[in-house]
Amino acid sequence: MAEQAAILPEILRSIDTIIRDAADEVTALDQAIGDGDHVFNLQRGLGALLAQADDLAQSGWDAAFKTMGMTLMSTVGGASGSLYATLFLSLAKGLQGRSLDLPAFAQAFATAVDAVRARGKADLGEKTMLDVLIPVSRALLEGAAAALPIGEVLRHTCAAAEAGVEATRNLVATKGRASFLGERSRGHLDAGAKTSQLMVRAVCGVVPAG
Ligand code: ADP
Ligand code: MG
Repeated sequence: MAEQAAILPEILRSIDTIIRDAADEVTALDQAIGDGDHVFNLQRGLGALLAQADDLAQSGWDAAFKTMGMTLMSTVGGASGSLYATLFLSLAKGLQGRSLDLPAFAQAFATAVDAVRARGKADLGEKTMLDVLIPVSRALLEGAAAALPIGEVLRHTCAAAEAGVEATRNLVATKGRASFLGERSRGHLDAGAKTSQLMVRAVCGVVPAG
């Protein structure tokens, strides 16, 4: 049987706490260049995932990611809902029948980020969550290729996420609601990039470094 996702409840609780602590900040970001609902959309999904955390913990990683994708699809509204769902459903497919080591995860995550790009018809530099997800994916692939110790991979991944969200500040949005503002979207961080970075930070804080 595939390795169980026993650590998932702890990861979800950590994400929930970090997103709750940043909720006002993220809402202000989405109000500045969007419609202000991003954190509520995300928290609805997180609440649904936490409610099924015990079942997830007893599933293999591929099955857990599939369930998470379906839950996110049906609970998170907005543009971000179907993108998160795409990410997790693709991760599930990529990890099917594989154990969750760094090379397998890095490869599955890269494929999942490609699926998000295709789904949202967006790429790096468009001021979206992809400005965090793509650098994170690269950091994971580089860490796997160089067979770096996990602690170092986590550090690089967290740093890539932070640089990614910071980079959205000076970008002009060309996808999603913020794109309606054109030049006026410049000067604000993207809300979806911010929550993605916070989630990466939460994961990095929980995954054992060695
Ligand atoms: P909505 O914009 O429909 O209100 P949310 O507020 O939940 O949805 O999510 C907005 C976030 O979704 C944005 O901050 C951005 O990061 C992300 N996003 C929007 N459109 C796209 C897209 N086409 N590709 C990738 N990410 C996107
Ligand atoms: Mg919104």
